[in-house]
Amino acid sequence: MHSGVTVSPHDLVGPYAVGALDLMEVVRFEHHLEECSRCRTELRTLRAAAARLVDPEH
Ligand SMILES: [Zn+2]
Repeated sequence: MHSGVTVSPHDLVGPYAVGALDLMEVVRFEHHLEECSRCRTELRTLRAAAARLVDPEH
């Protein structure tokens, strides 16, 4: 890690949604997802938004 700042698992939902996490972070975040309904909702929202960007017809 480069700064010593602890990243909240909640803050990983964005990078996770766009595939920007490394494998260890993905595994850790998916454990977090299982117990965090807030992040599951956030992830659904982000993916829906990303899908609209890719395919604006929908
Ligand atoms: Zn969370």
